Amino acid sequence: MSATAVADSDERAARDDFRASVRRFVEREIAPHVATWDEAGTFPRELYAKAAEAGLLALGYPEHLGGTLASMAWRLIVSDEVARAGSGGLLASLFSHSIGLPPIVAAGSAALQRRVVPDVLAGRKIAALAITEPGAGSDVARIACRARRDGDAWVIDGEKTFITSGVRADWLTVAVRTSGISLIAVPGDASGLERTPLAKMGWWCSDTARLSFSSCRVPADHLIGDENAGFRAIMANFNGERLLMSASACAFAAVCLDEATEWARNRTTFGQRLVEHQVVRHKLVDMRMRVRGARAWLEALVDRFDAGPLDAEAVADLCLLKNHATQAMQFCADHAVQILGGSGYVRGTKSERIYREVKVMMIGGGSEEIMKELAARQLGL
Ligand SMILES: Cc1cc2nc3c(=O)[nH]c(=O)nc-3n(C[C@H](O)[C@H](O)[C@H](O)COP(=O)(O)OP(=O)(O)OC[C@H]3O[C@@H](n4cnc5c(N)ncnc54)[C@H](O)[C@@H]3O)c2cc1C
Repeated sequence: MSATAVADSDERAARDDFRASVRRFVEREIAPHVATWDEAGTFPRELYAKAAEAGLLALGYPEHLGGTLASMAWRLIVSDEVARAGSGGLLASLFSHSIGLPPIVAAGSAALQRRVVPDVLAGRKIAALAITEPGAGSDVARIACRARRDGDAWVIDGEKTFITSGVRADWLTVAVRTSGISLIAVPGDASGLERTPLAKMGWWCSDTARLSFSSCRVPADHLIGDENAGFRAIMANFNGERLLMSASACAFAAVCLDEATEWARNRTTFGQRLVEHQVVRHKLVDMRMRVRGARAWLEALVDRFDAGPLDAEAVADLCLLKNHATQAMQFCADHAVQILGGSGYVRGTKSERIYREVKVMMIGGGSEEIMKELAARQLGL
């Protein structure tokens, strides 16, 4: 075997071991509780520390900040395995740092990075990203939440909405209007910041909040990167978010397929198992076709992601993958609930929950329509 082949097989074995350990963690600490947590509308804060202890939170972050160097392929193992518990809400809040931290890691001062990042990666603190406003969602350039400099502080006034981990976050990476757009790290307990929980169609155990800033003062050195350089940082951050969302959409589609397949193998109607009715088994293979297609595309893009900065064509592919994967998830959730019949409609199955959670995947992190526009623009159409 060549040295490269040995390295490849070592890497595969190491990834398999890691996958098995994440699976054990999810089966022990998450899967048995997600239904209860969803009904309760929250999950225990201690889960962050447990997830950190199991090596789930720090992957892909610099070692000097408490991270573990890892390619995107390793990070996808985590989203795959956590998704097997069948709760997008859990995934969104437990990993809200995956959208909140990267701008700080990429552009924050060394002092700010040390203040924020190690505690979050250790699960002692929670990080979130606050871009969306009541008047600015898809149209990020319309951000109106204003920050003005006053001596050694930034003073923030305005609103943010739909913010994941918004109530519990200890650190919020907030997009503000200076003369352009800037990013500021705001402590969750800053004076002048009010946080209100929002009720939702799905993602029940995820903390989603409206934030209100009223003369909220934050030390000047909490600016992330240069003043007015925020727009580019926000756009770059979207790439990672969209890849991770595509990965979890693929995983949730597969969860629905597995649940429906098992049900169809065991449930009998008219003297036959469901799977023996042609209509039902055709639904299952149609689901599999979408799961396999989305997954293959995802894996190709993961390799592209790890190879270095994305060019315009790769960004376009990423946008279209997000649409493709979330449509696969929607198709599979719909078919799974149908195959489960009444049992798919009452609470208690993963498919029922995933059915309620699919729309946010098609809206958040760049809606389907915006993904098409962005892809078309990147392709020069
Ligand atoms: C549960 C949840 C969690 C979220 N978490 C976060 C978070 O942590 N941080 C954060 O910053 N944001 C978060 N969001 C916000 C999310 O990213 C936005 O909802 C999303 O970007 C869409 O913005 P909007 O809701 O303002 O819709 P709008 O921008 O008002 O769009 C409404 C509809 O019009 C369509 N549309 C808009 N413009 C065009 C156009 N030019 N052409 C065609 N169609 C168009 C959109 O596709 C959409 O279908 C979250 C949202 C939800 C629901």
